[in-house]
Amino acid sequence: MENRKLFHILLISFSLTLATPCAHGWGFEGHTAICRIAQARLTKPALAALEKLLPLNGEFGALCPWADTVKFRYRWSSSLHFINTPERLCSYSYARDCKGRGGVNGNCLEGAINNYTTQLNLKKTPQYNLTEALLFLSHFVGDIHQPLHTGFASDKGGNTIKVRWFNRASELHHVWDTDIIKTAQGKGANATNLDGFINQIQQKINGLWAKQVRGWEACKTATCPNVYAAESIKAACEWAYKGVQTGSVLADDYFKTRLPIVQLRIAQAGVRLASALNRILAVAG
Ligand SMILES: [Zn+2]
Repeated sequence: MENRKLFHILLISFSLTLATPCAHGWGFEGHTAICRIAQARLTKPALAALEKLLPLNGEFGALCPWADTVKFRYRWSSSLHFINTPERLCSYSYARDCKGRGGVNGNCLEGAINNYTTQLNLKKTPQYNLTEALLFLSHFVGDIHQPLHTGFASDKGGNTIKVRWFNRASELHHVWDTDIIKTAQGKGANATNLDGFINQIQQKINGLWAKQVRGWEACKTATCPNVYAAESIKAACEWAYKGVQTGSVLADDYFKTRLPIVQLRIAQAGVRLASALNRILAVAG
């Protein structure tokens, strides 16, 4: 019954999301891509456990943007989608950038990933809503791979850097959340060309990046958010912020050189989410 209730909330939240573009987090396409890539890599027991946790007729990929839609209902959750780092240092430190923000684990992305990894424990009698824990964890593993989610506090992770994306007004943060992916999908972005976008990344995981996958998965615990955050701020400096200032026109050159980075971060998020869920969920039954 709990799942049914959540499903209704999800439906309402989704209609709201469609009306208001979100400013914090990979857009719908990015989160959907990450969770679909992860789902395809799950072991049988993990997949069975995942399906039990999903709301009735729920599709994992389509539910992964959910956390962005409950920021107003769960006000406490809005600071969990990002990490603020000091301007131009291009580094991340949990003690410096997260821990001081309150709570045992700090109210930021790394703290959130740690909390939801702990909550999603099928061996214990659930003290928490496990469906929500699954959806939050899957969303936040995605967010921490978006380079500008560990961006500088001074420009709110690129949100205050107004740019043009080809001939439209945008913000640097939005370019990374959504614009690059939509441009890659081509004109009239829809479900079919989202499948094509995801397939391309899966082909790279099995081809171009195949030898790196083990390294991405290397982690002594279920998740290693400190590693993912450090990679993200490095990529933010090397790729997202580089050569960009308010008023910049970002077009073909920026798109062609940054698309592979977006694909890489989505691939890494999907692979790592799968290995986390394989560890966490396979204990059932
Ligand atoms: Zn988010």
